[in-house]
Order: sequence, then C-alpha cells, then structure tokens
Amino acid sequence: MKRIFTVKGGCVLCLNCVYQCPVRAISIIEDVSVVIDAGKCLGCGSCVEVCQMEAIIEKKEKE
Ligand code: SF4
Ligand code: SF4
Repeated sequence: MKRIFTVKGGCVLCLNCVYQCPVRAISIIEDVSVVIDAGKCLGCGSCVEVCQMEAIIEKKEKE
C-alpha cells in the first residue's frame, strides 16, 4: 500500500518540502498553505525529513 502524506497545522511556508519533492507533488495554494497532491506523491517520505516544523504527517488510508 502506498504511503500517503498530508500537511497538518504548523507549516511556516519555508518551502523546504516543495524543493525536496522529486516529483513536484507539493505546491503552495494562494501563498498561504502547502498541499500534497496524493496522485503525484510517491510516498518516499523525503518531505517529512526536511520539515523542521514536523508539519507533514503520514496519513493512514485504505486502498
Ligand atoms: S512523500 Fe516524497 S513524493 Fe510524496 S510529497 Fe513527500 S517528497 Fe514528494
Ligand atoms: S517543510 Fe514543513 S514548514 Fe516548510 S513548507 Fe513544507 S510543510 Fe511547511
């Protein structure tokens, strides 16, 4: 099962995760929030490692 990640509260828009993502699955919406496109995301977890705010968490999802 593919791992799914989501952005919870606490994001400070540092954009580390945006630059880290190998498939550009992370984007900024209206300069105020960061979202992960689950369709593009590979589930690699790299974005979690670079987020100093621990704002990205793994979401449990059934397939
Ligand atoms: S888990 Fe990997 S592919 Fe998915 S959003 Fe994070 S860096 Fe990108
Ligand atoms: S690395 Fe964390 S704090 Fe920085 S933009 Fe991404 S989710 Fe927000």
